[in-house]
Amino acid sequence: MDSKIVVGKPELLKQINRNTVIKLIFKHGEISRTEIAKLSKLTLPSVMRIVDGLIEENLVAEVGKGTSTGGRKPNLISMNHRHLYIVGVEIAINVVVVLTDLSGKILDRWEDSQMHYQTPETVLTAIFEQINRMIDANHLNMCQIAGIGIGTPGTNFKYTKRMLHSILKGWEEMDVKGWFESRIACPVFVDNVARTRTLGELWFGIGKEIKDFIYVFIDQGVGCGIVTHGAIQEGYNGVAGEFGHTIIEFEGRECYCGNRGCIEMYVSAGAIISDVNQLSDIQVEQSFSEVAKIENLPQVEQTIKKSAMVLAAGISNLINIINPYAVVIGGIVPTRSKVFTEQIKASVRASVFSKYAMDTKIYLSEIDMTYNCLGSVALVINEIFKSVTVTDQR
Ligand SMILES: [Zn+2]
Repeated sequence: MDSKIVVGKPELLKQINRNTVIKLIFKHGEISRTEIAKLSKLTLPSVMRIVDGLIEENLVAEVGKGTSTGGRKPNLISMNHRHLYIVGVEIAINVVVVLTDLSGKILDRWEDSQMHYQTPETVLTAIFEQINRMIDANHLNMCQIAGIGIGTPGTNFKYTKRMLHSILKGWEEMDVKGWFESRIACPVFVDNVARTRTLGELWFGIGKEIKDFIYVFIDQGVGCGIVTHGAIQEGYNGVAGEFGHTIIEFEGRECYCGNRGCIEMYVSAGAIISDVNQLSDIQVEQSFSEVAKIENLPQVEQTIKKSAMVLAAGISNLINIINPYAVVIGGIVPTRSKVFTEQIKASVRASVFSKYAMDTKIYLSEIDMTYNCLGSVALVINEIFKSVTVTDQR
C-alpha cells in the first residue's frame, strides 16, 4: 500500500490501467478477467497481470465461478472487502464517525448532533475516542485501517493544512490532519465536505455510470466537485470547486469570507431560513427541515423558488464553463425541498448558452451520505487506489 511518486510515462500508464481495472471490479462487485478486458479495452494478458498483482496485494480475491456463455465457466473476482477497513468522519452540524469495509458497508457508527457547540479540541478528542472504541469493539488493529477520511466545512486543506473560512465557528486555522496524524498511526486524508461527497458520488453513486459530472452541494455551506474523465479536479492549489464563493450579485450580501454577493449567501440552508424568517407571520427554527415542512405555503414557496433560481443561474455558469454530462445536486436543501429541486430542474437550462449543453442532465443525489459518511469513506478509497505499486516489471 506504499505510495510512490513514479516519474515516466510507462509507470503512469500502468497506474491508469491498474485504476481502470480496480474501478471496474468495484463497480461490478463480481466480474471475470475476460469481462474486464472487454470493458476496459485492455488486452487479456495485461488484465491478468494487473489482477495477479492486486491479488498479491490482497486487494482483490477469487470468489468462484460465473455463468458460462458456451465455454468454460469464468473465474470471478471481487474486491477483498475484509482485507482493509476504512474510518469515515464528517464534521458538520452533526458529527458522524463510521467504520466500514472496503465496499463501504457500515460495521460501526456514532453520531452526535450537539458536538458543534463544543470546541474543536473537544470534538476531535471525541472522534479520536470513537475511532479507538470501534477498532477495539470490532477486533481490528490499526494496520488493518487503510485510512481515516475526514470531511469538514472549510477550504485550503492540502497546501496550508489549515481549515480556512470555516462556517463552523472556532475552526478557522485548525490543522485537523496534523491533529490526527500526531495521534494515530495510519494515513489521514482531509478535504471539504463538498469534495468528499463528490468522491462519494464518484465511487458509490452516479460515477459508476458517468465520468463527467459536477456535484453541487447545498447544505449549511455550498460547494462543488468537478469530475472530468472519472477524476476529481483539484486545481493548481488544490482548492477547485469553491462554487459557494463565486459572486452572483456584484456588491450583494456580505459573506463571512470577506466578499460580497457570494452564491452561498442566497442558497444555503441558513440563507433560506433567514429569508423565510423575514416573511411576515412566519417564524421557523434554525432548521431547514422546519422550512421544508411548510414549503407549500405560497410565501415560503416563492422564497424557496427565488433561491433556487439564483442557484440555477450559478449552475448554468458552471455548465457554460465546464460542459459536464450531468450535474448532481445533493445536501440538505435539495434533498428535503421538492420545491427547490423542481425549480432548479426547470430553470437551469434557461441560462445555458450552447445548444449542445442544453440537455445537460440534472439529477438529485440518491446516496444518503449524511447517514453513512460515504463521501469520507470514498476519500480514502480514492487515495489508496491511486497509490502506485509497480509489481509488473515486464
Ligand atoms: Zn464568500
